[in-house]
Formats: sequence, structure tokens, C-alpha cells
Amino acid sequence: MEKKDYIAIVQCHLVKQRCSGYMCERAFHERTGGFAHYPADKTYRTLYMTCGGCCGRALHRKLGNLVRKIKTKEGIEKDRIVVQLSSCITRDNYHGPCCPHLDYLKELIGRLGLDVRETTSISLKAEGRRQAGRYKTRQKAD
Ligand code: SF4
Ligand code: SF4
Repeated sequence: MEKKDYIAIVQCHLVKQRCSGYMCERAFHERTGGFAHYPADKTYRTLYMTCGGCCGRALHRKLGNLVRKIKTKEGIEKDRIVVQLSSCITRDNYHGPCCPHLDYLKELIGRLGLDVRETTSISLKAEGRRQAGRYKTRQKAD
């Protein structure tokens, strides 16, 4: 994590049809939820994008474009980039179960040689529902 200074935040294309993404942005700003491990005193650049829609295959092209452009324009190598998958992709929540293509998305990201982390905003209400068994939980990879 020390080497990372560029975060590509990937959100569910379907959910983003009605969500501004504010809770993701706030979680990063406050370094909570999936961003709790990012030092508050370090400056990161961020880029928000959606997966491009089911099955998520467009994400490979989008992130591939980022990797090429950022290397060409600024000499930034991919080992400085981390991909952060939003909570609506990685967790059962108000919007629905986690993405059925989650493993596929992670494979696409892995094929680009990019590191990936899971989860952005964590809602207290949703966490309560997970603990109560109303929302499913799954093994997290990060
Ligand atoms: S995690 Fe929440 S705020 Fe972020 S894109 Fe998904 S639904 Fe919107
Ligand atoms: S592939 Fe997953 S993250 Fe992308 S739109 Fe479909 S359900 Fe959402």
C-alpha cells in the first residue's frame, strides 16, 4: 500500500444509474470503510468509473486505457495504482446481492497486473442487517 498513490474506484454500472456515488466519495474523504487503511495524511489521486455494465468485460478496456494513458502522459507505472471495488459490487446491501461477476471482475483486473481491494462505504444499517442474517456475508479478499 505504501507505493500506491492512484486509486481507481470502480462502481456497479447498474447501481450508478440511480446513485451519485457520494457515499463512496465520502468514505474515501473520511478514510472509513474500505479506505480505512489509506493514511489520512497522504494525498491520493482518484478516478471514479463504472464497470461498464454486465458482465463487466468493459472494465478491462477501461482500466487498460488508464494504464496506457497514465504511463504515456505521466510515466506512472501500474504498481502505483490500486483498484478499489465499491461496496455495491462486493457486498449484499440495500441495492441487492453482491455482483454475480465479482470473481470475473477481479480476474480482469488481475490480468492487467493491477492490485485490487474490496469495498468502499460501509453502512452501519447494512452491517447490522448482515449480522442479523438479512444480508448475506461472504469471505472478503482484503
Ligand atoms: S457503494 Fe454506495 S455510494 Fe458507492 S456507488 Fe455503490 S451504492 Fe453508490
Ligand atoms: S457486472 Fe456486476 S458490477 Fe457490473 S453492472 Fe453487472 S452487477 Fe454491476
